[in-house]
Amino acid sequence: MAKTTLRSQRSPRAQHEAQVLDLLRVQGSASRAQIAAGTGLSRATISAITANLRRSGLIVRSDAVVETSGVGRTPERLTLNPGSRVIVGVEFSHTRVTVVVCDVTHRVLGSRVREHNHDEPWERRLATAIGFIDALVVTPLTLIAIGSGVPGAISERPRVVERVERCLGDRYRVPVRVENNARLAGLAEFSWGAGRDMPDLVYLRLSEGVGGLLIVDDEPRLGNTGSAGEFGHVCVDPNGPVCRCANRGCLEAYVGLGAVLARAGAASVGDLTEALDRAEPRALAVTTDAGARIGLVLANTCSILDISSVVLGGALAQVGDRLVRAVRQMVVRHAHGGGTERLQIRTAELGNLDGALGGVALVLRDRSIPVGRRSTSRSAHDENVLTA
Ligand SMILES: [Zn+2]
Repeated sequence: MAKTTLRSQRSPRAQHEAQVLDLLRVQGSASRAQIAAGTGLSRATISAITANLRRSGLIVRSDAVVETSGVGRTPERLTLNPGSRVIVGVEFSHTRVTVVVCDVTHRVLGSRVREHNHDEPWERRLATAIGFIDALVVTPLTLIAIGSGVPGAISERPRVVERVERCLGDRYRVPVRVENNARLAGLAEFSWGAGRDMPDLVYLRLSEGVGGLLIVDDEPRLGNTGSAGEFGHVCVDPNGPVCRCANRGCLEAYVGLGAVLARAGAASVGDLTEALDRAEPRALAVTTDAGARIGLVLANTCSILDISSVVLGGALAQVGDRLVRAVRQMVVRHAHGGGTERLQIRTAELGNLDGALGGVALVLRDRSIPVGRRSTSRSAHDENVLTA
């Protein structure tokens, strides 16, 4: 997710082409009016640039997208030429391996998921991912890059990250990017899910681990050391239980999925949801308590950053209304500033593919990885970065 800059020393036309291609790789498809709005280029320039890019085969018309524009002609939308080139997203969560394959127009071509125990060795997790990628990326599909997520708080994390990069990089000979998996789930929700119309956003993922992502001014914010958004390890009680990160009283120790299910006496999220539907007092009390603890951390976050849009993801968010109501109550009660009138709390939309889809979004947003299709025309892009 590191910010990258386009190569300098390019002609104005090549720079304009790069702006259009960058917008399409992040947005998937766009009309010429949307490209003009997104790049600040004039309509005349957009017409000339897109005509040239279409002639060179770098972009094509998207017929798959239907726009609800009422009466009149639907504006033509443009996308990058998929050209059978694909991006793989892999999520290694605490208890699951998920692989998803997408093309550069953001179409999901396939996915695989396998659950495992907490103590599954990394060797087996990697073998599972490789088996899935081999099954999904068949000739004549060409793999561009792999974006992968691993949990933020695990033992020997740097070694795990290096192992994932080396293992997948050696096998597939493509760039491999590794990020925090909760943050990738947030990036996916921001790109395609519940947060897609939220330029400022706090995303919180409530699963075995608790993590998240901050979006400010339409950009993911990582902080000085890349650990911004680690909501799970915000201290809510200095005398509380010891957390897996070795600190005491972290939010995750109270609202991590395992802790909540154990306190509610439920075997799964489905069990907890059913108990809530039956209005069982223990399930109600535990869920309300979890919502209040989450809400307090969110109230402070929203106050400090002056943000009023929240997306709750992860398995625990699937219990729905009861949790969201408790979170909302606490945020409204404790957040400062005018944001609470505009407060929006949504639950995530992308299901359990979210982290792996975030890996795809990570690659699409990383301008140092070329995604365009090789063109036989010299005219359009002889100085362009998208010529892998
Ligand atoms: Zn912790």
